[in-house]
Amino acid sequence: MANSSECMRKNIVLIEDEPDIAELISMHLEKAGYGVTVFSNGAGFLQFMEANTPDLVLLDLMLPDIDGLEICKNMRKRSELSAMPIIIVTAKNKERDKVLGLELGADDYMTKPFSPKELVARVKAIFRRQMSAEQEADCIDVGGVLLLDLAKHELTVRNTRIELTYTEFKILELLAEKKGWVFSREKILHQIWGEGKTVIDRTVDVHIRHLREKLGADARFIRNIRGVGYKLEEF
Ligand code: CA
Repeated sequence: MANSSECMRKNIVLIEDEPDIAELISMHLEKAGYGVTVFSNGAGFLQFMEANTPDLVLLDLMLPDIDGLEICKNMRKRSELSAMPIIIVTAKNKERDKVLGLELGADDYMTKPFSPKELVARVKAIFRRQMSAEQEADCIDVGGVLLLDLAKHELTVRNTRIELTYTEFKILELLAEKKGWVFSREKILHQIWGEGKTVIDRTVDVHIRHLREKLGADARFIRNIRGVGYKLEEF
């Protein structure tokens, strides 16, 4: 089964025997916030799967030891792996191969050469489809890097829990719920502290400064719009 918590970083396994391609794909997936484990052959992957449950598998078909289609078939036969998303990534571009891959239970198919960005987009699309509306409402994902668990009031950044104060979390949640929207200090004060509270505008700056310090390099998501306020932006 896939990770039970939707608020955890997704882990992807890549089975690819060409080192250059493996490196290129890994780099793009990691940049998008995913954890990546690479195997250059089928046997190593199958052994790994005895004790691990990644969230998605990217599978090359022409491997040195086992045919990728056999791996796909093998996974689908095991009940605990039957729902794990599989994307086939291969140089085989005949219609027949694609159909066979999909019939064996792959969720998607990409032909080499391909755009790594498109691959990342397809991975994201699969995770989006997987996530029910309810789960989605309980969790906000910012750029695949910041994960806010709204029920537990927890922030996870690249698989590491970051301790935030209640106010810091509420400010981050407010900005993250409407990515790209600029919130004035006044608006933030109103939303977090409510009306009629005597809190000065600078309070927002102080909390945001603390929040940014805790986020370190990932503070880049929180943008200060001079003279207007703050926004959270994915890029
Ligand atoms: Ca290959």
